[in-house]
Amino acid sequence: MKKTIRDFDLYNKRVIIRCDFNVPISDGVISDDNRIVASLETINYAINNGAKVILMSHLGRVKEEADLIKNDLKPVAIRLEQLLNRRVVFINKTRGKELEMAVNNLKAGEVVLIQNTRYEDLGSKRESGNDLELAKYWASLGDIYINDAFGTSHRAHASNVGIASLLPNGVGFLVEKELEVLENAIKNPQRPFSVVLGGAKVSDKIGVIENLVNIADFILIGGGMAYTFLEALNYQVGKSLVDKENIDFCKKILDNYSSKIILPIDNVVAGKIDDNVETRIVLSEEIGKNDMALDIGPKTVKLFSEYLNKSKMVIWNGPVGYSELKSFSSGTVSLCKILAKLDAVTIVGGGDTAASVINLGYKDKFSHISTGGGATLELLEGKELPGISVINDK
Ligand code: AMP
Repeated sequence: MKKTIRDFDLYNKRVIIRCDFNVPISDGVISDDNRIVASLETINYAINNGAKVILMSHLGRVKEEADLIKNDLKPVAIRLEQLLNRRVVFINKTRGKELEMAVNNLKAGEVVLIQNTRYEDLGSKRESGNDLELAKYWASLGDIYINDAFGTSHRAHASNVGIASLLPNGVGFLVEKELEVLENAIKNPQRPFSVVLGGAKVSDKIGVIENLVNIADFILIGGGMAYTFLEALNYQVGKSLVDKENIDFCKKILDNYSSKIILPIDNVVAGKIDDNVETRIVLSEEIGKNDMALDIGPKTVKLFSEYLNKSKMVIWNGPVGYSELKSFSSGTVSLCKILAKLDAVTIVGGGDTAASVINLGYKDKFSHISTGGGATLELLEGKELPGISVINDK
């Protein structure tokens, strides 16, 4: 068990909380603040326990000068002030006198947010490369380090692994819950345990399939990746997405676990990815030469629902169709509705799928919606996450 924020006396201590405020921002407007909302429990706990709170987060990627303005954390500070209902001092710097003074002037229960940690990536990748000098500098600002950024825990950066290795450390409530739910799901699954995988590429999910195929009872595959599996079974898949390099991997999985892998039996096809083109529903053996299969069809939704209705636990990662376009979103929406009604543990494995579930209004209907994308996938692959490994055990 990892140490948590509860294991420390926070009063009057400078507590660095690494959050994941990597939210979509366009022209200074935040379109989805779920990650900020998810971090409030830990921040409020620190405030209420008299910590001097120093918040850090990355936002987007910073490769060139122009990325600085795009990835300015200031809008997050403003939103955070509203959500916390208290002042958040925003320091538009990642180091220097102004930052040091703000930290030194902090009183118990006050909050500072420092500029995007990835501003340090400009020129040389000090943040992403886990530069020791940078980690030492940031660590010098705090007495205790709390990792509450689950979404970056699969990376070893200066703002997580770097600082954590230099200070007394623990995880926040968000990370604690993610680990509890996801690790427990894999170690003690409620059965039958089904996994629904979608998304574009087989290559992104190889590790997850390899690990979960041994643990889960059923793996239901939709989305672009289904067509590489169908091609491996010698179906004609027309112009659908096929990951040529991984056909052999799919063949191997199908040979060894044929009864566990459930593939689409019908599909919504079109000539191109466009909301204004004619679509048809065809059986998987009837995909035409010029067809692109862009969603699962109604018979597949029914087939998937039969497996899901008898499941006691479901993990879902990846849309089962090109769900950005309305014409190809019906499978993903139907799946969301089926899962929302299940009397089972339902876990959404982060990324685009989490955003879709929340935007469709089903946030409260799932047992757990992970805030991680890559980090969730790596945990499901059975890998250790460096941002978590570095945290001391109790
Ligand atoms: P991922 O990031 O791997 O979860 O993939 C998400 C992407 O997969 C989304 O942008 C979807 O539009 C895309 N996708 C899902 N199903 C299909 C499909 N049948 N054909 C092409 N792209 C798809």
